[in-house]
Amino acid sequence: MNQKELLKNLSRNNSLDTIQNYIKQVIDIRGFGKQPIEQELLLLLEEVGELAKSVRKEKTNMCIDKVKIKNYDTVESEIADVFIVLTSICNTLNINLYDAIIEKEKVNVERTWVNTNKND
Ligand SMILES: [Mg+2]
Repeated sequence: MNQKELLKNLSRNNSLDTIQNYIKQVIDIRGFGKQPIEQELLLLLEEVGELAKSVRKEKTNMCIDKVKIKNYDTVESEIADVFIVLTSICNTLNINLYDAIIEKEKVNVERTWVNTNKND
């Protein structure tokens, strides 16, 4: 199956396992499937930086380079990039993302969260 067919087969009702498997297949087709983990982590950091830039552009009043403003992608697009690269890292490390989230949330729901904001 090619990338367009794989994409057409996705639906809103897909499980996280299905999405993770889709990302594995398209990353392989695109030729990034054999990237070393160090390179994938660099890519993740790059995408997180792009997400920060898009949030700065769309959601804050911070100054932005007027000449380059058309070069910056949307927050939605950069969120997707971060998720895709993160999921690809899971695939490289043979980590099931759903299982990892559930295991971590079992820990998180037992924790007590305290607001230490000194301005309150
Ligand atoms: Mg990006």
